[in-house]
Amino acid sequence: MSYLSIRNLHKTYGDTQVFSDIDCEIAKGELITLLGPSGCGKSTLLRCIAGLTEVDGGQILLDGEDLVPVAPQKRQIGMVFQSYALFPNMTVEQNVSFGLRMQNIAKDESARRVAEVLAMVELGEFARRYPSQLSGGQCQRVALARSLVTRPRLLLLDEPLSALDARIRKHLREQIRAIQQELKLTTIFVTHDQEEALTLSDRILLMNAGRIVQSADAETLYTAP
Ligand code: ADP
Ligand code: ADP
Repeated sequence: MSYLSIRNLHKTYGDTQVFSDIDCEIAKGELITLLGPSGCGKSTLLRCIAGLTEVDGGQILLDGEDLVPVAPQKRQIGMVFQSYALFPNMTVEQNVSFGLRMQNIAKDESARRVAEVLAMVELGEFARRYPSQLSGGQCQRVALARSLVTRPRLLLLDEPLSALDARIRKHLREQIRAIQQELKLTTIFVTHDQEEALTLSDRILLMNAGRIVQSADAETLYTAP
């Protein structure tokens, strides 16, 4: 049985139908890239899974439990956005521990977990800095650490590399892949960049105009006519 199972998902904004029948199955520990042109509904699908926007129908089963009626903060999902979305008036450490404070995790335990994830993204030295003192790539690694520290059941990455320049993009892509494999973390990585999708993932879901039109591994897509 698959770990994440999306069934017959519907979403409209007013009169605009973003998608009407999304079905997909993702296995535990898999890294899936969701690849498709701008405006096809990738972000909306991630936001529905995270609970940041309401769905109009269908099911999102995670480990057998339907998430649709579950409040977003109770879904145990980590999410990273293209724009980092860090709190500018908090240090790196405070940004990363924010989710743990919300869960009333004890201070010692929190400090230990923050140090652990900052080491994972190679930012241990930067704990006391503010986002304005960091590069874009470093900010995105803070956002990644913040999403990992709560030990999510699912990681959602929405174009996390798109705002960065090419050299940093490649490095961070490899770092994300290594961490994802080490933690065996089930991950959906949204991108409109074909190269990113081909080099990063176990499997690619191709999306177009609100539909998942193909599911294939990179090799199959490469050799497709
Ligand atoms: P993608 O992530 O693939 O670029 P989006 O999910 O952002 O696509 O958008 C899919 C469609 O839904 C687009 O037509 C977009 O304009 C529309 N859309 C996205 N968010 C909203 C919103 N909050 N209100 C109305 N329409 C939206
Ligand atoms: P992305 O493609 O990365 O989702 P967008 O530029 O499409 O980014 O959307 C940025 C924000 O604007 C999102 O919060 C999205 O929900 C919202 N949005 C997108 N399209 C529309 C729209 N047609 N009407 C209202 N809000 C929208």
